[in-house]
Amino acid sequence: MSMLIVGTVATDDIITPFASVEGVLGGSAVYAATAGSLYVPVRIVGVIGMDFPESYMAYLRQKQFDLQGLEIQEGKTFRWAGKYHFDMNTRDTLATELNVLANFNPNLPDPYRATPFVFLANVDPTIQLKTLDQMKKPSLTVLDTMNYWIETQRDALTAVVRRADLIMINDEELRQFTGEHSLLKAARHMLALGPRALIVKKGEHGAALVTNDGYYFAPGYPLEDVVDPTGAGDSFAGGFLGYIAKQRKITARELHRALIHGSVIASFTVEDFSVDRLKSVALHDVQQRYQEFASFTHFERLD
Ligand code: AMP
Repeated sequence: MSMLIVGTVATDDIITPFASVEGVLGGSAVYAATAGSLYVPVRIVGVIGMDFPESYMAYLRQKQFDLQGLEIQEGKTFRWAGKYHFDMNTRDTLATELNVLANFNPNLPDPYRATPFVFLANVDPTIQLKTLDQMKKPSLTVLDTMNYWIETQRDALTAVVRRADLIMINDEELRQFTGEHSLLKAARHMLALGPRALIVKKGEHGAALVTNDGYYFAPGYPLEDVVDPTGAGDSFAGGFLGYIAKQRKITARELHRALIHGSVIASFTVEDFSVDRLKSVALHDVQQRYQEFASFTHFERLD
């Protein structure tokens, strides 16, 4: 099984209270693909400009992502700049420069169209819709988004929500999209639009899976030092869907396991800037942290 990821391939400028970097490799598709490729082959749909550094291109090739759907266009690559607050859970966007993304019209290579698992990673919802329009009945479509698109493209975003099976969204964006303060009520509001499940990401505090008949919570893996939270959500999602794509059946048990895989992968991502830590993680590292995690979180029922 393989997975298709449409999202941003970017350069990021990041400021944290402790360090800053400029022009590092980022983008929702890059983080999600790095995570997802631990489990299954990954196909990328996206766009870069002529300024995209050759060393970043070499990284994408070395990871063996299928890049037939990655277009190179005249102009500059999507660029994002963000600044984290002291708690590292909240951040301000300092710049979002769409550049070549502004006129991107995805045209999927033929072999991409029957990919069974689709991750509509954080990108313009009209690009997510155009991608979905070219797909032949995927088994599972997962959608992620961000405050920027809730503010600028609400109608298109609502249209994609209606077509997705599972939504990934952080707590703040869920409240912003639905106008509900209670996360559980907000989740119900979102499910009423059509998706079968919702994953609410709560930064270092973990993530919750909500369906019409259940609720499951995974804490965040405890870390002494967080260097840069950027990409935690995207790599969580890529790892989650990669794990699911590798299973024979999608059961509640596998969804719960996938949530822990996502959480563990995000914990590696935040240990360094860009994909600097994540890129050298192997599946056995994830499995090892997964087992450790079980011992932190397991508790017995009352007798
Ligand atoms: P995350 O920390 O998981 O929310 O993802 C951050 C990544 O998303 C960064 O590498 C950015 O390049 C990328 N990004 C930031 N803003 C946007 C946006 N509006 N649309 C798509 N990708 C974005």
